[in-house]
Amino acid sequence: CFQLASLLLLPLSRRCCNSFRLQKCSIRCRHSASADYQNGSRQRLVILGTGWGSYSALRNVDKSKFDVIVVSPRNHFLFTPLLCSTTVGTLEFRSIIEPVREYGFRQSDHFHLAEATEVDFNLREVTCRSCLGSRASYQIGYDRLIIGVGALTNTFGVPGVNEHAFFLKEVSDARQIRERLIENTELAQQAWISPDERARLLHTVIVGGGPTGVEFGAELYDFARTDLARLYRHKAADVRVTLVESAQILASFDASLRNYAEKKIRARKNFDLRQGTVASVDAQGAALRDGSRLPAGLVVWSTGLAPRPFIRDLDAPKSPSGQLLTDPQLRVLADKSGRSFAIGDCASIVDGPLPCTAQVAERQGRYLANRLNQDRTGPLSESSSGAQLQDEPFRFAGRGMLAYIGEFKALTDTPGVKLHGFTSWLLWRSAYLTRLGSWRLRLQVPVDWTKALLFGRDTSMF
Ligand code: FAD
Repeated sequence: CFQLASLLLLPLSRRCCNSFRLQKCSIRCRHSASADYQNGSRQRLVILGTGWGSYSALRNVDKSKFDVIVVSPRNHFLFTPLLCSTTVGTLEFRSIIEPVREYGFRQSDHFHLAEATEVDFNLREVTCRSCLGSRASYQIGYDRLIIGVGALTNTFGVPGVNEHAFFLKEVSDARQIRERLIENTELAQQAWISPDERARLLHTVIVGGGPTGVEFGAELYDFARTDLARLYRHKAADVRVTLVESAQILASFDASLRNYAEKKIRARKNFDLRQGTVASVDAQGAALRDGSRLPAGLVVWSTGLAPRPFIRDLDAPKSPSGQLLTDPQLRVLADKSGRSFAIGDCASIVDGPLPCTAQVAERQGRYLANRLNQDRTGPLSESSSGAQLQDEPFRFAGRGMLAYIGEFKALTDTPGVKLHGFTSWLLWRSAYLTRLGSWRLRLQVPVDWTKALLFGRDTSMF
């Protein structure tokens, strides 16, 4: 009896020490590595994140074969290609998100609103911190692990960005931008505001000329020339946008499309395309390295990716930009057992990095789910290591890129077709409409588009 008790207590005490080291408040989770799943007929698959990669894995994995547990600080999937449209009210926030609970969990507590803070590849345990209440810390054991936690926006250490600039990655970011835009516009109408301050409030600086920066600028331009011009007609002429880019805008697009977009943007009144590098951001705007200042009421920062603290702190081989390295089968190099996988923006394949896009992440999630579904081995046992899964590597052939540039014009850059203008805009809208994951969203999005077109965008403040 004593030997049995020590055998049980030794690993338990080790794990408890770990969790106490991490958090003042720490509990043992009922999902921790224990007999409940080792004796079952299903393996336990833990998925970290509810973004493009993880959500695709969740939707495609065979739930009769796996007990799927999802850990994410977000209980919805976000359709990022349409996020810019929500910053000005072309679309509403809830029209581009899907609750993950719709996707078949065996038990309601198989979704954890929490963030992963650590992985022990030897013990096969993920340490999580709840996003709710006392933010308790606990461990979950796994047979297979999929890491798809995405990335943060890279600030390049520029002073003031974290404190004063707005990012555009989550619905909460888009909501803050929308509120700030409307608040600034309302404030600019007040009689006691000086002309200089009014000009500052109505000026938005966008840092980064990638697809996100350009699309946000396009939405803002449309908003200003239609709804702001109609509702705030006496001051709408002061609304200005400056897009700052150190190199070329839309660098990943074909040169002919890039030039077309640049020409269209430069021709716009009150829309300035500025080549330069931002040196600092403060509450009053941004300063460039060339010494000039851009007083602004809103600075939106959209410049490349940086690893999340969870990935940064993992003791594992990383790419030069800090992504978790995997083999071509997407297995994390640090885990010799082959049971852990990493996909999407947080990962990079060791001998062939791929673009950080939704397309790549989504297909990696599907590829992994299909591979896991084919694994015929039983529940957790040494014989069911990842090495037994089919060895077909992940292959990616891009289907092309789309970007909205404003005034009902878009760019289509596919291997066979290079299109711009109105036809491309129709393609852009229909492509994303069909990509939306559920009929609810496919109904909601066109309703929002029609509402905005017929009645204008909603500029209410809450
Ligand atoms: P994400 O989709 O970012 O998901 C990461 C998930 O992990 C989230 O659910 C997050 O809450 C969760 N998470 C974070 N930390 C933790 C943690 N510690 N523990 C557990 N979970 C965690 N790509 C395209 O191909 N086409 C486009 O048109 C396009 N447009 C875009 C527009 C915008 C505004 C943005 C921001 C991106 C766009 N992208 C586009 C890029 C695309 O969205 C990303 O490449 C894609 O989201 C990456 O998917 P992912 O699964 O790696 O990460």
